Amino acid sequence: MTKPYPYFVSLDDAVSICTQHPISLDTETIPISAALNRVVASNVVAKVNDPGFDNSSMDGFAVVYSDTIEPPTKLKITGVSNAGTNQLPSIKPGSAIRIMTGGPMPAGADSIIPIELCTVDGDFVILSEPAKPNYVRKKGENFSNGENIFSKGSVMSPEKISLCAAAGVAELVVYKKLKIAVISTGDELKNLDDELRFGQIYESNSYGLKSLIEIYGHEATRIPYVIDDVEVLRNALNKAAAEFDCIITSGGVSMGDRDFVRILMEQEGDIKFWRVKMRPGSPPIFGFWNDTPIFGLPGNPVSSHVVFRAIVGKWLTSLTDSLDYNSKFVNAVLAEDIKTQPDFTTYRRVELFDEGGITYARLQGHQGSGNIAGIALSDGLTVLLPDQNGRKGEVCRILLL
Ligand code: AMP
Ligand code: MG
Repeated sequence: MTKPYPYFVSLDDAVSICTQHPISLDTETIPISAALNRVVASNVVAKVNDPGFDNSSMDGFAVVYSDTIEPPTKLKITGVSNAGTNQLPSIKPGSAIRIMTGGPMPAGADSIIPIELCTVDGDFVILSEPAKPNYVRKKGENFSNGENIFSKGSVMSPEKISLCAAAGVAELVVYKKLKIAVISTGDELKNLDDELRFGQIYESNSYGLKSLIEIYGHEATRIPYVIDDVEVLRNALNKAAAEFDCIITSGGVSMGDRDFVRILMEQEGDIKFWRVKMRPGSPPIFGFWNDTPIFGLPGNPVSSHVVFRAIVGKWLTSLTDSLDYNSKFVNAVLAEDIKTQPDFTTYRRVELFDEGGITYARLQGHQGSGNIAGIALSDGLTVLLPDQNGRKGEVCRILLL
């Protein structure tokens, strides 16, 4: 029977269907110290030049280059320029000024000779090599006052936070965090402080999914897990839809007759697609529950992580016009055959190693989608595209974890 929604779609189609259903994010102004992983909602502009003045990148002596071209050169030390000084000495030909890293360049000096290449003899310094102009950090060479230092949609890394401070930027306009509910489903699930009896497992997916949401700059709330029961699940979804911007469930989306997330969505939700041609992780569902976007992820632990990165992360980044910052790739040569399926995108867990200057990928751990250790201890995931066959020697993109 054909379904009234796209069924068993390619991964590309799954991503494009969900990105066609965006939700809009408000913005807020926050201090840079609270900005890690947040997405900036407007271009960020420098308020100062960097450097603000010509200065030395080495401890040594500031000199006039033309004085040093026929070493050894003996120059009289006539002053000092320490970092932070506002007393700028000037230099006359035939002399040298002691300078520290970050010290302003004396007027008239154009080169630095590092201390390691000098012999100090009383009031004189003897240089054994010509000075180097490239040890002078020129005013504005990194960025200038008024320059765009990074653009709307950028994700704040520790390095960008330092860059803001260096540029005199104390606050940023960022997108407000989405409030996302994470709901695990399954009769077999127990909390970490529960005693497990036969047949039960610790509920683990919600912890990793919460962390994934946080590295995408949003706020995740782990809702107590829900048993496999239509009434209980419906209540949980109604409550989450009323209180959150988005719902992520795990478990209960496959073909079984106790897969109640899928069953409820079919009966009462608004499905935009169900099932995706990817391995692992073919069961996901996407749609709306009471107008709130809902991603139903598979319960298998590896699948829940892979589907988040392959689909949910793409949707989140599209909401803020970001590059998919959490997807860093390297190319690697497959060191062994990797099982693929025609038309499917295949994410196998691999470790990377170098040999003869080439990066290779080999399978890491047992590849079952229930083996969370396999993904947790791997370097990355193969992104074998639908037309790749995964043969040994093939070059493959690896999504780094
Ligand atoms: P399901 O998608 O509900 O059919 O579950 C598939 C497999 O994933 C089963 O072995 C479940 O026990 C396991 N599973 C489901 N939810 C979780 C969870 N939240 N944490 C860990 N494992 C889970
Ligand atoms: Mg289940």
